Amino acid sequence: MDNLKKRILEDARVMDKDILKVDSFLNHQIDVKLLVEMGLELHRRFAGEPVTKILTIESSGISVACATAMNFHVPVIFAKKGSSRKSDDEVFSVNAYSYTKQEPYVMNVSRKYIGNKDHILIIDDFLANGEAALAMLEIVRMAGATLAGIGIVIEKAFQKGGKAIRDKGIRLETLVSIQSMENGRIIFRD
Ligand code: 5GP
Repeated sequence: MDNLKKRILEDARVMDKDILKVDSFLNHQIDVKLLVEMGLELHRRFAGEPVTKILTIESSGISVACATAMNFHVPVIFAKKGSSRKSDDEVFSVNAYSYTKQEPYVMNVSRKYIGNKDHILIIDDFLANGEAALAMLEIVRMAGATLAGIGIVIEKAFQKGGKAIRDKGIRLETLVSIQSMENGRIIFRD
């Protein structure tokens, strides 16, 4: 997505060496036109899959998940972040670790909204070490649902998440992949 790359080069800022701030168009203020284009492109990549629901994690994955779900005509489920595990009768609960906050959390999804007949597409804004995506993967597994794949807006290819997911044989589609951000200079992989 050349327009997304252009926007990243124009507006994104590198913080603390390896955090990319995209608050001006994705994580705080949202450029809805660009968001709709992202949703169309993610739909195009997974169009062959019989997706029944899209799973993401609050809060920054929700907008991209909704833009993608519009094209599949399916609901979005967003996993909720909590500090403690809930009763197993009500929710699928998985331990995860927040890359941006550098602290553990519990990811919860109600058992009401995901089941063994579902074909789930996981969507998120960023892929760093893969913690969020792998925790959502575990929820799909616990529910006995089928995984269609994982779609990400920005992969930071210098971190380990992409390899961890591809090594599992999972289909991973990323709209842009960043090779390095050294000294604040963003270099794309392709
Ligand atoms: P991971 O779980 O793959 O280590 O990190 C992905 C999650 O952390 C995403 O849900 C995203 O919200 C957040 N994240 C990771 N790296 C970045 C980054 O460079 N910028 C922003 N804005 N969020 C990030």
